[in-house]
Amino acid sequence: MTRKLRSSGMLFLLALAAGTAVAQDRDYSKVQIKATKVAGNVYMLEGAGGNIGVSVGPDGILIVDDQYAPLADKIRAALREIDPGNLQFILNTHWHGDHTGGNQAFSKEGTIIAQENVRKRLSTEQTVFGEKTPPSPKEALPVITFPDALSIHFNGEEIQAIHFPHGHTDGDSIIFFTGSNVVHMGDDFFAGRFPFVDLASGGSIQGLTANVEKVLARIPADAKVIPGHGPLSTPADLAAFHHMLVETSGIVKTKMAAGKDLATIQKEGLPDAWKEWGSGFIKTDLWISTIYESLQGNGAAAHQEGTHH
Ligand SMILES: [Zn+2]
Repeated sequence: MTRKLRSSGMLFLLALAAGTAVAQDRDYSKVQIKATKVAGNVYMLEGAGGNIGVSVGPDGILIVDDQYAPLADKIRAALREIDPGNLQFILNTHWHGDHTGGNQAFSKEGTIIAQENVRKRLSTEQTVFGEKTPPSPKEALPVITFPDALSIHFNGEEIQAIHFPHGHTDGDSIIFFTGSNVVHMGDDFFAGRFPFVDLASGGSIQGLTANVEKVLARIPADAKVIPGHGPLSTPADLAAFHHMLVETSGIVKTKMAAGKDLATIQKEGLPDAWKEWGSGFIKTDLWISTIYESLQGNGAAAHQEGTHH
């Protein structure tokens, strides 16, 4: 699927997916970690890479995702400013390097937990956009894995990690902080922007759309939503993202049914209403090709649609 990929977001995508070679080439010295109180026990950390969710309280600290290895010290310092407690658990929402790059650094402090496909993919060589990511060292792998769901009873609430199949990848967990009324979406939600959907890792637009729909049905209107990328959001923002997924994939589907090829559909573009969504890392052309390939069934998920563990 890399044949015509010459987007300026290329470097980002590689860093996003691989988080290894590219991440090491990047200068992290200027990255600052910004902490925001979300609700209840939960905070959000923004730096470089995926947003980090944090639970603090009498039981210690739990984090959801850990960005890049070179940021581990800065993340530790940011956690210490929120709460002096010890890190106990690290949840990974999926395998990509901008969410798991800190695993090895944090593995001596806390226990890494993830859906079983995260461990499978981190344990073996992965190829995204033709770029290979080598297997991660043992210390960076999740120690506790689960097929469908797992609950952690921590800091006075039940924190549920639930597997949502074939969305951004085949190993996505969405994390529900049930007492604090907060949900961490991982990369099943890019706030206000077209998302990266990793077809090579078992992701699909159809699955992603279904996942977001299920989350919307599950969370109250006053919940706080942490996206994988972008600012702290609301269920209304997540609904707008779902609307975008349905509308833009519907447009491409109609054009495909009319026999148009990818180049033609890209040339025609999307209505102006969706222009702003293409101003992030995933430009409109790449978004259209992702939809096209996902609907064609080029993603690994296509043959397993509807299959749940
Ligand atoms: Zn990702």
